[in-house]
Amino acid sequence: MGNPYLEWAAPGVADLRPYQPGKPLAELERELGIRHAIKLASNENPLGPSPKALSAVSAALPGLALYPESTAPELRQALARHLQVEPVQIILGNGSNEVLELAARAFAGPGSEVIVSQYAFAVYGIVAQASGALLRLAPARDFGHDLDAMAGLVNERTRLVFIANPNNPTGTHLGRDALETFIDSLPAHALVVLDEAYFELMNAADYPDGLRWLPRFANLLVTRTFSKAYGLAGLRCGYGVGHPDLIALLERVREPFNVNTLAQVAAHAALFDSAYLQATLANNRAGLEQIQRGLLRLGLTTLPAAGNFIAFAVPGGAARVYGALLQQGVIVRPLQPYGMPEHLRVSVGLPEENQRFLTVLAEVLEKS
Ligand SMILES: *Cc1c(COP(=O)(O)O)cnc(C)c1O
Repeated sequence: MGNPYLEWAAPGVADLRPYQPGKPLAELERELGIRHAIKLASNENPLGPSPKALSAVSAALPGLALYPESTAPELRQALARHLQVEPVQIILGNGSNEVLELAARAFAGPGSEVIVSQYAFAVYGIVAQASGALLRLAPARDFGHDLDAMAGLVNERTRLVFIANPNNPTGTHLGRDALETFIDSLPAHALVVLDEAYFELMNAADYPDGLRWLPRFANLLVTRTFSKAYGLAGLRCGYGVGHPDLIALLERVREPFNVNTLAQVAAHAALFDSAYLQATLANNRAGLEQIQRGLLRLGLTTLPAAGNFIAFAVPGGAARVYGALLQQGVIVRPLQPYGMPEHLRVSVGLPEENQRFLTVLAEVLEKS
């Protein structure tokens, strides 16, 4: 029996499939009756939250009976200073995920079109389709965004163009010149949502800082997050930066109090914990190398390492290897929902977690 509500669902919603998150650690431990499983599946920060963020959260607990300040003025001010933009250029979200959703709510809808790349972060397609807009999918080139193919889909109905830089799950990124030329080529009615969720973790020489383009492009919204490098995925805090009028429009559809009190104070504190960020970057750099070396030694082919994750191919056996890793208490991410059934994605953990992943993977491959 089908779902009887389908016939009444809003346009676009009936065809949606929910986002499939990485398997939660607690769920696997419950299922297997084990402890000490490890999760390298959602690109979370293996160091745990910044101690400064934890203190800020503790200090804010007695205030929880009150609503948060809806516009998060202190966090917004601090971020503006940090990013060298004006506070009116920033909108905060319940994760940057919500900012992606606000862009769709404000600009997409029946009759409009939204462009995304094949293999791009799944949330873009979900928020676009849920809005009732027509989703235009540009075929990928070498698993990355093909900007020519994306430009070829632009027409007078285009309202949003989602770009993940780098892209999750494929690790591909676009260089400064190519991306700048692409944005410059777009009409004013096509808003580029440039998702820089891994900005702080990138060190490729040609990797652009999208904020630098804001004075030039009024149709650019850059999104970033406290979930990855800043280690606050569980609190949900991200933001978008753009032209003040663009931000003002997004504010019209933002739910009041969308960023909770604890998220506001923790993000503020984490922003000023440079020791934590440095430790994160050092652990990440070493971890990417450790994992990449290990995967190559196992004869596996990897996609580009970017941010804090690496996708790799297990031809013919990704689902089985994923399952076998789970049985050993190691959670990675299967990319079958992205139409990449032969790939898995692993996030950088602590050195011993990376090693455990590589050791268990070697054993699993040995047995096959
Ligand atoms: C993790 C991720 C996000 C969203 O993170 P939030 O926790 O919602 O801030 C957005 N885009 C990409 C590409 C991601 O990988």
